[in-house]
Amino acid sequence: PLVLGIETSCDETGVGIVRGHTLLANAIASSVDEHARFGGVVPEVASRAHLEAMTPTVERALEQAGLKFGDIDAVAVTAGPGLAGALLVGVAAAKAYALGLGVPLYGVNHLAAHVAVDELEHGPLPRPCIALLVSGGHSSLLLVPDVAREVISLGSTVDDAAGEAFDKVARVLGLPFPGGPHIDRAAREGSGTAVAFPRGKYDDGTLDFSFSGLKTAVARWVEAKRAAGETIHVPDVAASFQEAVVDVLTRKALDACRRYDVHDLLIGGGVAANSRLRALAQERCDAAGVRLRVPRPGLCTDNGAMVAALGADLLAAGVSPSAHDLPADSSMPITTVNV
Ligand code: ATP
Ligand code: MG
Ligand code: FE
Repeated sequence: PLVLGIETSCDETGVGIVRGHTLLANAIASSVDEHARFGGVVPEVASRAHLEAMTPTVERALEQAGLKFGDIDAVAVTAGPGLAGALLVGVAAAKAYALGLGVPLYGVNHLAAHVAVDELEHGPLPRPCIALLVSGGHSSLLLVPDVAREVISLGSTVDDAAGEAFDKVARVLGLPFPGGPHIDRAAREGSGTAVAFPRGKYDDGTLDFSFSGLKTAVARWVEAKRAAGETIHVPDVAASFQEAVVDVLTRKALDACRRYDVHDLLIGGGVAANSRLRALAQERCDAAGVRLRVPRPGLCTDNGAMVAALGADLLAAGVSPSAHDLPADSSMPITTVNV
């Protein structure tokens, strides 16, 4: 069956089409340039941009796949979590398409979709697997018995998300928004051991994270150097900050695998695009005998294909579709796969 997926939780209008685990189209329009000068996503601006981009992006996806509206068997949409106004645009559009086409509608969790998307690249998820979900708004370790039915939270950040820390540190270093990719690039020219930044909750015995202390430590370090009139080597600071983040992420992810005796680790969310995270995770998984799955960077950041992928899983699992008065839920818990 063909599933059309719609994503509008933040600043990307994403429309994907899949047949089972086969990716047929992934069209994206981003309003990121409109937010850059504010240093963060402006909700009202994002909502309006989704409204303008929705119809053309759906048409582009159909064109990419060489399909017509009548070929679509189900519609899936991000129902939460995310920006309320932004979610509403996608949910309203999805309801209209589902009703107009007479096909089932699935309201899905954006975070579970960040996990499910890997199936488009590497096939069915091992059951169970451990998922490290690291994005702009979330950082969690999950036990995933079956992404269509059950996601269990093992731990999460007690303050900033990993992506948020990347974006804030980038700002301190004078790099553009969103900062993650810029730090990733700058860090390649620097040394991860140049500055010893703190690793929050490294040895606390939990599967939780904390990144706000690290972010503050980097800001203080940079301020002190500037006050002393010293020049800052941005690549070294970027690499040292990045090392602190990925060291904790990979350590705790492998801790989770060990504790739950699971030998498959998946990394998803925008920060999973980070090259150092991918490399260190591979190294540590190899040493621990854990199989690692990370989608290609273009599938890690927000897109419509991830929503379609989870929709296809729900359909295949025989899960009941959503009601046509499906609400958007900006604070949907990570353990709610669909609504
Ligand atoms: P959420 O999924 O929690 O709702 P979101 O949808 O806004 O948040 P994503 O698109 O999944 O977030 O991820 C965006 C985040 O990923 C940003 O913080 C961005 O800086 C970060 N990011 C993207 N590429 C990289 C990279 N190469 N290295 C580090 N961080 C990155
Ligand atoms: Mg984005
Ligand atoms: Fe996301």
